[in-house]
Amino acid sequence: MMGPSHALSGAAAWLAGSWALDHFTGFSQTPLEVAVGTAVCAGGALLPDLDLSGKVTTNQGGATVARTFGVASLFVSEVVEKFSLGVYTATKLKRDPRRSHGHRTFTHTLPFCALVGWGTTALATNYGKWAVVGIVFFMAGLALRGLFDEWAERAGWVIVTICSGVIAWFTAVNLPGDRGYPLLGLAVGVGCIVHILGDMITKNGVPILWPIPIKRRMWRMIGIPNSMAVKVGGKVETVVLRTTFTLISLLSIAGLFVPGVLERLNLDSWASR
Ligand SMILES: [Zn+2]
Repeated sequence: MMGPSHALSGAAAWLAGSWALDHFTGFSQTPLEVAVGTAVCAGGALLPDLDLSGKVTTNQGGATVARTFGVASLFVSEVVEKFSLGVYTATKLKRDPRRSHGHRTFTHTLPFCALVGWGTTALATNYGKWAVVGIVFFMAGLALRGLFDEWAERAGWVIVTICSGVIAWFTAVNLPGDRGYPLLGLAVGVGCIVHILGDMITKNGVPILWPIPIKRRMWRMIGIPNSMAVKVGGKVETVVLRTTFTLISLLSIAGLFVPGVLERLNLDSWASR
């Protein structure tokens, strides 16, 4: 799937999950907490594609997310790609083909999702609010780049970086500083998992079961049969899937906040009687 679909699926997953938690377990979040979680999950849903690097020296190529913060993120994605290729080569079995590019390898596995989720939580619990602000800055940038790809392309990375800065600043001003924010790591991890699931319905699949060897292959690509696969950038993706994700998001927002608003309106009208 393309950037906007991945980002939308991440946002939809987090909003629907927040609604379900609120509805079935009574675990409620403030609108800001929901917004931060949604942005981080949408950003997390783009994170695995940071393994699609371009040419740092000439500032070209790479996945859209790799260009979020200009050459800086292009460099990060170069490192991620080479590292992933290293993991692939080091753990490949005889039947696994030789590869020259790390795309859709290590960052498209469940251990990677767990690792970044745990890493995010560790950062947030050890360094508190300022780590949270840094994470929000980075993830909001990815989310903006993914959700509004055409705008981001036209505006350029400087504007995207400034916008993420504003979002991070707003979060810093409004978020209480005395908590561990364990949900943040969950949001990143869930985002990554949603990304991998999205890639599984497109051609080629992903090595989601690594490091479990199957039929003497460590990196078996798993996905739906190619004949049923969703065409990247085709009508099913850009119309059907994106509309579905948007509807899920809107319904979840309504489910989360409309009852509260109605209750307040009711109380107000009672009070004024
Ligand atoms: Zn991917």
